[in-house]
Amino acid sequence: MSIVLRQGLIIGPTSSVIGDVLVVDGTIADVGPAIDAPSDAYEVDARDCWVGPGFVDLHTHLREPGREAAETIESGARAGALGGYCALVAMPNTEPCLDNVATVSYVLARGATTPLDICVAGAITQGRRGEALAPMAEMAALGVRLFSDDGIGVRDPSVMRRALLYANPLGVRLAQHCEDEQLAGGGTMNEGALSSRLGLTGRPALAEELMVMRDLELVRATGAAMHFLHLSTARSVALVVAARAQGLRVTFEIAPHHFTLDEQCCEGYDPAFKVHPPLRTRDDVAALVAALRRGDVDAVATDHAPHAPELKDLPFDEAPAGMLGLEHAASLTYEALGAPQCDPAVFFQVMSRGPAAIAQLRREDAPPRHSAHGGSVAPGEDANLTVFSPSTHWTVSRSALASRSMNTPYDGRELSGRVRATIAKGRLVVDQEVLT
Ligand SMILES: [Zn+2]
Repeated sequence: MSIVLRQGLIIGPTSSVIGDVLVVDGTIADVGPAIDAPSDAYEVDARDCWVGPGFVDLHTHLREPGREAAETIESGARAGALGGYCALVAMPNTEPCLDNVATVSYVLARGATTPLDICVAGAITQGRRGEALAPMAEMAALGVRLFSDDGIGVRDPSVMRRALLYANPLGVRLAQHCEDEQLAGGGTMNEGALSSRLGLTGRPALAEELMVMRDLELVRATGAAMHFLHLSTARSVALVVAARAQGLRVTFEIAPHHFTLDEQCCEGYDPAFKVHPPLRTRDDVAALVAALRRGDVDAVATDHAPHAPELKDLPFDEAPAGMLGLEHAASLTYEALGAPQCDPAVFFQVMSRGPAAIAQLRREDAPPRHSAHGGSVAPGEDANLTVFSPSTHWTVSRSALASRSMNTPYDGRELSGRVRATIAKGRLVVDQEVLT
């Protein structure tokens, strides 16, 4: 099957050019000003759209196995495709958790039946209990390149140091959820004057920042690589940016909810706004947006966390933390980058090229059974492409999302920019907001 994308703005890492892209048998076959496509090629009108490497999400909770009422690998992949994603990294806090070869193999096999590349983040410790290390080498042999106990941070510094020393020669990267759970103290929103007024227990910014500081020193001591998940405060970002400039092998992601929503959203006690780390202050949001626009951010990641309605529709302090992300992350990022002044090169850097490098999904290091992501739109590359329409406006409707869950904090919000088409593993899986 061949597909031709007509007259889109093709986004390179530094420059962009208007032209056609021809995809044949899963590979980009030709790129040029006006291509002679085979007569049976499926045509996508990409005028006024951006054509770039398919999005990669470093942080997706697919909930399978164990909580299929909230999401499945298949429904999560559909939501991802509509959001322009061609690859998702499935987080390990499933039931049972992804801390062993059998469960990881199950997720990879189920993922292979979807149109996207489904990768796995394996657990760092057995049962994500923060004690004995999980068999990282065995999981790495299956192609696992990221490890995390996400949902919680690895609290014991001796365990974290051992994990870094173990991961380093394997060529894999640890990804830490930075929150000291003792300091976070079971809190439900950001700690501050507002949490006091609302009568809710707070999670202090310091609970996150202390673990960032500690882990930066563990990275410095071990020489290993580390990825910082969903940083939410101005200081956390500044700490990691400074350490990266010193040559430490550290990367970080920020999530759309942390750069578009602040703690004031919790005033109505709506559990849709409960998330860990929590929504922070306006100053933190402004600092995250500024970092994004400066090009300091390695990746935007969704932390897509579906919850079935009967669990999420509880009082604020009892509801589980987490919100949906896959289907609106691109629009929110486009807006935060200053739509319509958004720089498309930065947009594809944080949505595709940056995360693909962290997940080791680029052509030079893609693991077995996965195609390559985050590269150039050039002949010979695997065809993972996102066509994004900056001029489209749309309104989020929680009941219209492809996810099995509805816990979006953006229900009813009008957004700018939308995915026009997704070509994953050479197949057109989304065309104009419709799954094909
Ligand atoms: Zn997390």
